[in-house]
This record gives sequence, C-alpha cells and structure tokens, in this order.
Amino acid sequence: MTARARDLCDFLHAAPTPHHATAEAARRLTAAGFTEVHEQDRWPTDPGARFLRRGGALVAWRQRGPLDPTAGVRLVGAHTDSPNLRLKPHPDDDAGGWRRVAVEPYGGVLWNSWLDRDLGVAGRLVTRTPGEPPTAHLVRVDEPWLRIPQLAIHLDRDVNTAGLRLDPARHLDPVWGLGPGSTGDGIVAAVARHAGIDPDSVVAFELMCHDLAVPTVAGAAGEFISSARIDNLVSCWAAVEALSGDGDGDGDAVPMICLFDHEEVGSATTSGAASTLVADTLVRLTTAAGLDAADEARLRAASWCISADGAHATHPTRPEVHDPRHRIVLDGGIVVKHNANQRYATDAEGVGWLERAATAAGVPLQHFSMRNDLPCGSTIGPLSATRLGIRTIDVGVAQLAMHSARELCGSLDAVRLADLLAAALAD
Ligand code: ZN
Repeated sequence: MTARARDLCDFLHAAPTPHHATAEAARRLTAAGFTEVHEQDRWPTDPGARFLRRGGALVAWRQRGPLDPTAGVRLVGAHTDSPNLRLKPHPDDDAGGWRRVAVEPYGGVLWNSWLDRDLGVAGRLVTRTPGEPPTAHLVRVDEPWLRIPQLAIHLDRDVNTAGLRLDPARHLDPVWGLGPGSTGDGIVAAVARHAGIDPDSVVAFELMCHDLAVPTVAGAAGEFISSARIDNLVSCWAAVEALSGDGDGDGDAVPMICLFDHEEVGSATTSGAASTLVADTLVRLTTAAGLDAADEARLRAASWCISADGAHATHPTRPEVHDPRHRIVLDGGIVVKHNANQRYATDAEGVGWLERAATAAGVPLQHFSMRNDLPCGSTIGPLSATRLGIRTIDVGVAQLAMHSARELCGSLDAVRLADLLAAALAD
C-alpha cells in the first residue's frame, strides 16, 4: 500500500499544471504499451491500446477485439485542473521597489492558503520559428521565486477574531524580487531562460503558480496524503493506474478513461467535460469498426461511466456543516455522491453497477449527501452524462481542505479508488 501511495505522490509532484498532468499520464500509458493518436490524423482501424490529447485533457482506451455495441464502454472520468493563481497577460509590475507578478485566481481558490508559501511557476511557453507552426513547450521552475506575504498580526490586530479579508484585485500578487532585476528580464523571459528557451522567441504563455512543498504520505501511521491538487489528480492517478494495469482483462466492453480540463471553471471548453471529446472518440471507434449511428447509440446504451472527483470528509473541528446522518470518514471507503436535484448524476441502478465492482475489488463504499440548507457542489458527472447519454455514478476519495493550496486525503482510500476503477473497467 505504501509503495502505491508514494507512487501517487510522484504523480502529484509531476503535475503542477493540467498539461503536466496529461504529459505524466501519457508517459505512464506509453510505458504500459499504449500508443498516442492525434485527432487530425486517420487512426488505425485495428484494435489496440491508444490515447489522445486535446489541450489539457487526455482520453485513453484499450480495445481488445472487434467493437461490440452490446458490450459498451466502461468509462472513467476525472479532471486535470485545480484552483490556482495564473499569470495575467501583462504580468510584470515593478512599482514601489518590488518586483511583483499580476495573477488571476483560477477556479474556487481558498486564497488564504496561498499566503506565506514558497511558490514556483509552471505551464507552457509558445515559441515561433519563421516558417514553422507555433510550438508549445512545457516548463516548470521548482525554485522559490514567488511569495505572497501575509500582513503581520501587529498591523492586522483583528485578523484572528474578525477573519482574514483579502481583495483578489490587490492582495494576491506575489513578489519575486526587489527593484528592477539585474537581467532586466520580466517573469516570462526569466522562465524562458530557466528552461533554456530564447526569450525573444516566446510569443505567448500560460503560466501558473504552484506550492513547492513536496507531496507526502503523512500521519503517524501513513494514513494520509498531504499535497496540492489532491482534487482531482488523485482520481487521474487512479484512472491511469486502473487502465494501464488492465492488460489481462478479457471483458468485451472497452475500458476508457477521460481526464478532462477546466472542471473548476465550469467545463464548457473544448477540453472540458461539456465538450465533444468523448463523443468524438466514440464516433471514431464505431466508424473505424464499420458500424453505423444506430450501433453507436446501442454502444452508449450498453455503457456506464464512473465520474471520479474529490469528496468532502466530515471535518474534525466543524462537523456541524455536514449532514449528521451522512458522516464521511477519511479512509472509510470510496464516497458515492447523491443529490436529489441532480448536482450529481448517481442513480440507484448505477449504484447497483458500482456495488458489483466494489464487491469484486473488496472496496467499501460510503454515501454522501449535502446538508439541505447548504448549496451542493457539482462535478463532471452530470455534464458528461448529459452530453453522452451514458449512465453515470459520481464517486470520489474523501478529503479535507478542498481547494486549499495544500489538501489532505486518506492514503488507503486513494489506493482503493484505483482498485475500484480497475474492477469497474473490467466489468
Ligand atoms: Zn474536483
């Protein structure tokens, strides 16, 4: 168990941004015998283990024989993005004797959790070579260049009793130096130089901050995983583990995973769960098999999907914010998310399918329902279910401090999710 938990920590560390997450997933799938296909190409028509990337999303599947519309697809969905602070198009601000970087919060960031942390910067630089298409480069600076310093308590006397108040337009821009830098580089040029890229060739960028604290197995008995981006790279890791370890399966259904981007901002993008990504992939698989649109509808009807995303554990010091009849225990089993108003896609028949996989994997389940007077979050499940017409169950690993720069989940449950997804993909 510990070795697998440590492997999860390696995955979390390898993925400070969505594009790093898909790169790490692609590396692991390639090592497991999968080959990459590109959407603009014609694909091989024979069965095989393949994956594709679109933006910060990745789809992978393993087709062992002729596509059987009556067997369907076993789909697992997760998301690669996490709330963070992203650099604005004009990031450099050298006023007042400080070098500062202008950032924009991405998704539902717990702002306070980014204060007083040693921050690196990572993402993509796009360069231009005359006569060539633009090229994107993955970059990361794992050095403590950036910092968002908190106000001393002497200058904010009421902070502990009145609560911390932060203005995202004024209080979140990190400092990264004093005065104009000796090289005169702005932050983007400095990142380019650090990556060995000529700053003059950079025409565009997507850069974001990441906490340099290393993901770790924590707790006196190793019960916890302490890391950034537990929501939702734990599910991405579990999905990749489940699919890449699935080589010996003999089911007729096609096991498939989809790691979407942009869940934290609503999923309505070309690489989000509301996109055509999985639908396009299914069209191409059925077409390659010589099947028609009616067969594809049969394929979808025979399919089911597990949408895996972080779940809220009952908080140790704030149990009153949870429904007292639906307490969720860290390492107490995989959480099945229910919502009568369909913020989660789970239905009873889907739970029946899930329970069968959980029994096969020896994984316990626990059931979540939000307190009625608090708004319920949502996830990729209802969106992909609506888009695809495929029965979907929303599940997740229980965690604390969701959307903090440093989250906490159970190490046993993280490993259990990989086992549950493996059983579901093989069902
Ligand atoms: Zn999430």
